[in-house]
Parts: sequence; C-alpha cells; structure tokens
Amino acid sequence: MRGGVRVTPREDHGSNEPVNVTVTTADRVKWLQRRQTSELVRAAKSFLRTGLDLAQARSTEAGARQAAVANLAVSVELMLKARLTALSLGLLYVDLPVQLRVILADPSAVPDSYNVHRWLNFIEIGQYKTQKVEYCIGAWSVYGAATAPSKPYLTRVSELRDRSVHGVLPALDHYEVARVAYTALMMYVALHDYGTVSCRKDFLTDADTKLIDGFPQERLERLHKKIRAAKAQAQGLGEPVKSPEVEGWYEWATECPVCGSDAALEGECEFQPGNWIYDEYGSPPPWSEEVDWGELWFNAETLKCSGCGLELEDYEEIELAGVEVRYPREEDVPQWVEEHYELDRYDDDREPWH
Ligand SMILES: [Zn+2]
Repeated sequence: MRGGVRVTPREDHGSNEPVNVTVTTADRVKWLQRRQTSELVRAAKSFLRTGLDLAQARSTEAGARQAAVANLAVSVELMLKARLTALSLGLLYVDLPVQLRVILADPSAVPDSYNVHRWLNFIEIGQYKTQKVEYCIGAWSVYGAATAPSKPYLTRVSELRDRSVHGVLPALDHYEVARVAYTALMMYVALHDYGTVSCRKDFLTDADTKLIDGFPQERLERLHKKIRAAKAQAQGLGEPVKSPEVEGWYEWATECPVCGSDAALEGECEFQPGNWIYDEYGSPPPWSEEVDWGELWFNAETLKCSGCGLELEDYEEIELAGVEVRYPREEDVPQWVEEHYELDRYDDDREPWH
C-alpha cells in the first residue's frame, strides 16, 4: 500500500517469513479514539469511586455531601465525554482545524501518504479543548434517548456541579446526594452496556448495586413527602390559583394533582411531520387544511405549581404523581410549521390557514 507504515511484529506465529502489517490512517484514528476513550473512562472511574465512597458514608456534614456531589458530577461529565469519543472522536473537541475535521470525518478517505500523524499528535498532547458539559448532555439526549439516565437527571447534576465548585451548597440533603450517585451509576452501567472500553461490571460493589436497586423506592418516598407538604400548604389556599397563558415551545400548563391550581410544565416539543415532507423535491403540497401536516407533542420534564408549591423534578416523578407527561398541541401545528420550515420558498397563494 502506498505510503503506509510497515511494522514488523515482534512474534510471527508459526511462519519463518516476517509478517508486514500496514497501519492505515483509519487504524491510527481508531487506535487514538480507543485510547482517548479509555483515558476518559479511567479518570471517570477515579472520581466515581471517590464520590461513591463519600456518598455511601452518608455523612450529614455539608462539606462531605458537597465533595460527594462534586466528584460524582465530574465523573458523569467524563463518562459523557467518553461515550461521545467512542462514537466519534471529532465530536469531542472544540475548534478543530479543518485538516483534523476531514481526517476524523472519514479516515478511510485520507491517502496513507498524507502525514496524518502530525495532526493526530495534537490531539494526543491535549492541544484542543473538549466540549462543555451542556453540549455532551445535548448529544446524549439524542444517542442516549432510550437509555437511563434521562436528560433532567444529567442537567440537575451539571447544575449542582457548577454550584458546588463555585460556592457552598448548604441545602444538599441526603436524597439529592443519592440522586447524583444514582445518575453516575446509571451512566456507568450505560457505558458498560454500550461495550465501552475499560468499563467492567466488576468495578461495581455490592453497595453500588444496592444504591441502584434502592433508589426508585427512595424516589417514591421523597415524592410522598413532597405531596404531603403540598397538601398541607394547599389547606391554607382559597380558590385554585390561575396563572397567565403559557407561551413558546418550552412550557405548557396542567392542573396540579394536589390543589387543582395551574401548574407550569417545562419541557420540549416534539414534531412528527406528515408525509408531505417526503414528497418529491421535498416541497409541500399547496397549503390546505386537508393535508396531514403532522403531530406536535409537548413532553413535560418538570412541574411547578403556582398554588401549593409542589415541584416535580423529572418526568418519572410527574408520572408517579399521576400527571400526564405528554400533551398534544395540534392547534399549534400551523405555527410550528411556519416557524420551522421555510415557507417563503413557496408560492404566495399557498398561504397557510388564513
Ligand atoms: Zn398545587
């Protein structure tokens, strides 16, 4: 092969002829990707074990809880990065030069004669910054959509991380620490299940497994406590509180399961376009109400009641409290289509819904 590096292995198995192995650009990238992933996992495991030891000691001291959360949160961030790296090395870094972007996008397209080593070496020596945790969570919400931990858990961990490394977190209770530990452990289990390098199951101790198994019960007890507190609060309340209309794509409202007031939901919209989007040339048919434009759903991630003060922190809690997590928003489909698709491209007489 043209320009490939020839390596003679130390042993040749059974034959007296030396065996020449050609290392291609794709091999080099794969090797580097595996190495970077493994390094991230190694670091994540150190933080994870330190954080878990602190969390499992169940200290009531605020400093110990904060240290547990900080260590666990760093481990979560590193694990997110490890998974991202295992998927695609190029996704991990900010502001890569064009040469590296091209090499990492499709190493097999780069001729072996190109001096790829020089560029890959920059990555090895840590020349480039890695993406922020919010970016990694955004990526996880796509490829990890079907895997625990869910996005609200990760977002909460990232918030606590920022606060715990920049100041004092006096309000951390045991549950909050257990929630972060649970998130970190579920992330480790996910990495193991993906077959990520260096993620062996025997890293988990009996105490870790107990924490994973016991957390759902703990979450339920916490929810009951919150509902009791909200009920007590609701007793002093007169009429249910009505809040102003919701606006935009990131909020919605529902009835509070405790006091019947308006409860604000935060979350995201999900649009499933109708078949028009796949029509020939990608252009939608003339506007008409007969066209199936698609379905728009709001998926709730948190709930906050304006009356009794009930707060639910993720969709699992919302579900457990007996509140719907998915809401149809069919009246908003025209506005969604107008905002998200380039209507200007179409004829003036195809005005939607006027
Ligand atoms: Zn309420």
